[in-house]
Amino acid sequence: MENQIIPEEEKTGRSLNFIEEIIEEDLKNNVNEGRVHTRFPPEPNGYLHIGHAKSICLNFGLGKKYNGKTNLRFDDTNPVKEDVEYVDSIMEDVRWLGFDWEDRLFYASDYFEQLYEYAVILIRKGKAYVCDMSAEEISETRGTPTRPGKESPYRNRSVEENLDLFARMRADEFPDGTRVLRAKIDMTSPNMHMRDPILYRILHATHHRTGDAWCIYPMYDFAHGQSDSIERITHSICTLEFEVHRPLYDWFIREIGIYAPRQIEFARLNLSYTVMSKRKLLELVQQNLVTGWDDPRMPTVCGLRRRGYTPESIRNFADTIGVAKRDNVIDVGLLEFCIREDLNKRADRIMAVINPVKMIIDNYPEGLVEEMEAVNNPEDESKGKRMVPFSREIYIEREDFMEDPPKKFFRLFPGGEVRLRSAYIVKCESLVKDPQTGEITEIHCTYDQETRSGMPQSNRKVKGTLHWVSVNHAVEAEVRLYDRLFSKENPDDAEEGKDYKDYLNPESLKTVKGFIEPSVKKAVAGDKFQFERLGYFVVDKDSANDRLVFSRTVTLKDSWARIEKNQ
Ligand code: ATP
Ligand code: MG
Repeated sequence: MENQIIPEEEKTGRSLNFIEEIIEEDLKNNVNEGRVHTRFPPEPNGYLHIGHAKSICLNFGLGKKYNGKTNLRFDDTNPVKEDVEYVDSIMEDVRWLGFDWEDRLFYASDYFEQLYEYAVILIRKGKAYVCDMSAEEISETRGTPTRPGKESPYRNRSVEENLDLFARMRADEFPDGTRVLRAKIDMTSPNMHMRDPILYRILHATHHRTGDAWCIYPMYDFAHGQSDSIERITHSICTLEFEVHRPLYDWFIREIGIYAPRQIEFARLNLSYTVMSKRKLLELVQQNLVTGWDDPRMPTVCGLRRRGYTPESIRNFADTIGVAKRDNVIDVGLLEFCIREDLNKRADRIMAVINPVKMIIDNYPEGLVEEMEAVNNPEDESKGKRMVPFSREIYIEREDFMEDPPKKFFRLFPGGEVRLRSAYIVKCESLVKDPQTGEITEIHCTYDQETRSGMPQSNRKVKGTLHWVSVNHAVEAEVRLYDRLFSKENPDDAEEGKDYKDYLNPESLKTVKGFIEPSVKKAVAGDKFQFERLGYFVVDKDSANDRLVFSRTVTLKDSWARIEKNQ
């Protein structure tokens, strides 16, 4: 047998999700001769987002799991909104996520001739007709869910007349909007999608692949299922809103008389503090509310990539949330948890100070530089160690010092002691302030030579450990501190008179100057680090030879784990 089924729980300790249950049942009953063939069918009218990533992981994941295949198919039936820019970015993103469609890259537009033939079959059977009503008339006569629709006066045209008119629609005899081809189903159906839906419309638009070869284009519903059938997709997985389209999906396949894939719906991914509709993401880009599709605050795959997310973290996220049958909202904290977990293992630690105050170690010899040994990743010994220069003047984080500390403040204060990470214990002796503003400009300390890290006599313990960067050796960088793009948990749920754009978080980007240890000089765009005690950061593509730009991927604070614990 090609598909030996090992019970899921034996393999992974996880039970089957409902889609896997359906597939395994089909395999058991030898439906499709044991084949599993899925597809990811994006419409190339925008960049992929994390919701699409979920669907990609699901479809390609099932293909892999059941020794099957997964196609990438562009459902490119709407020339007005589509573009090759999107086609290219989608392919890049699917590959980056770690999936491979091998030689199975398809376009619904490749099937335009075949789809036309299918429409002709329906006309011949008396199951489709050319309707001369305008778009408004059609929508007015559709009725409502509680009120039946009215039949079109053109509904009972003869087969011959329909064939002739449809051919002439294709032959460019009529202007846009003057005629459509409709299925002849049931204007009283409780399912609105079955009330003589439109199959073809006249549209004089240049298609990004077929150019001006066509002036009629199939509607999504007429193209999608038939494309699945042509590709012999066994399980056509889509999101819940297509559940009400399923009777139509099955009707087309049955009436045309072609191979029948099985449509299965699951709940689309929604994330808190995020909008996911392509229309809204496009609007954010077009109105310059973000810097582009790959703005690190965008939930797009290219935005997440630029933000420092790894493919592994996204796949792990998709796996963790599983598939649901009902709509729900996932806490964006879970996504942040997944990248934090991955980068904890992957990212080298370095020291960077982003809100500096100068510390002068008065008893440290002027001009002396000592190279301090620092561990690159305590989670992974194989990552080795590096040397960090230490000198008399260093930067520490302003928040790590308080002149009048509350109890249990374990960082530095007058008379207090802290360890400087990988270096010495220092004691605060005095302060220098700006006479005008009162702001602290220098913290003067003494160091205890006996306390150098790693040395046998360095056992003396103090409560706090601070990160630092030597002033003379620091590399300056632009540091972009990103936060969530929206300040409302569900930005789609706007108050009256407002919309999601009214909930943009004004604090979603703060740019500061950072001082970073010199080992960072070798870093290139895409390199990921943990800035000790500050968070995970990635080198941004805006970096150039003389300019280093870092973006914060995520803070170290693990809000998700805390939420879970409190529940
Ligand atoms: P949008 O509504 O944002 O425009 P879409 O569903 O129209 O998105 P498509 O390009 O048609 O975008 O989607 C390709 C595939 O990705 C479809 O199978 C769709 O069901 C799936 N998909 C889209 N959004 C999500 C989501 N939020 N969660 C899971 N799957 C999704
Ligand atoms: Mg869609």
